[in-house]
Amino acid sequence: MKIGFIGLGNMGAPMALNLLKAGHQLSVFDLSEAAVASLVEAGAERADSPQAIAGGGAELIVTMLPAAPHVKSVYLGDEGLIACSRPDVMLIDCSTIDPYSAREVAAAAASHGNPMLDAPVSGGTGGAAAGTLTFMVGGSAEHFQQAQPVLAAMGKNIVHCGDSGNGQVAKVANNMLLGISMIGVSEAMALGVSLGMDPKTLAGIINTSSGRCWSADTYNPFPGVMDNVPASRGYSGGFGSDLMLKDLGLATEAAKLARQPVLLGALAQQIYQGFSLQGNGGLDFSAIIKQYTRES
Ligand code: NAD
Repeated sequence: MKIGFIGLGNMGAPMALNLLKAGHQLSVFDLSEAAVASLVEAGAERADSPQAIAGGGAELIVTMLPAAPHVKSVYLGDEGLIACSRPDVMLIDCSTIDPYSAREVAAAAASHGNPMLDAPVSGGTGGAAAGTLTFMVGGSAEHFQQAQPVLAAMGKNIVHCGDSGNGQVAKVANNMLLGISMIGVSEAMALGVSLGMDPKTLAGIINTSSGRCWSADTYNPFPGVMDNVPASRGYSGGFGSDLMLKDLGLATEAAKLARQPVLLGALAQQIYQGFSLQGNGGLDFSAIIKQYTRES
């Protein structure tokens, strides 16, 4: 299949490589020349703009951009991807953005005759490289079926979440819970250790008791409790605190528009905001435990 790919960053580049590996013909664009050059070296064709991707005969176009303003600027307007694409070309946005923006862009695509899916991912850069991402997909069931083989080249778990925007709804709801649960686990671990518990013993109790959750049993924030997690390598790698802050912002903004209370989500956002202000935005999000420990 002839596929266009726009946004070749930490996630987009390995995703695009997996499409090439699966035998698709790829034309690529990014504002960064270096990002384009490394994909061209791997066999992709260079495009000089989103318009060139749209006009170059792509049958399907994938975007993986930082945030909603970038997505809107690429898709909308007289020079945007939608206006420049043939009406039957399928558009798939894998960026993490708010559900309202996703629905706005999908409605513009539909009015031009373009099938569109929002398909944010989880699994991080490791999952992108391994082709094991989870895709949370919003759009019609028919378009979901059509896109499945292409998404399967980049991911393992591909879930249809409902109509347009629902992929983003699933993503923000999950990540809001993740932020809250990581703060909760940090608070409980720090309390137990300050009261005299051995951290590994405490984690063992939590992980076989009613406090068990992913943040405790798979990604424990206390240093030395688990191997191969960011807490055991100075909170490097993993999922950055600033990315968590971005996702919590998406959740609270969407909640405001839906007039839905997210009390703990808003508190988690403030806690990560303070953490970022202290210069910790580049640390993995489990480093939030530093807010509770004396050496911070
Ligand atoms: P990134 O900043 O590494 O990459 C974004 C790329 O988009 C950059 O190469 C940038 O040059 C390019 N870009 C920006 N504006 C552009 C434009 N107008 N036209 C063409 N290219 C443009 O970001 P990332 O880590 O790859 O994340 C991409 C998306 O995936 C974000 O929405 C992020 O929240 C989400 N996400 C990231 C992770 C992760 O672990 N990094 C995990 C899940 C989801």
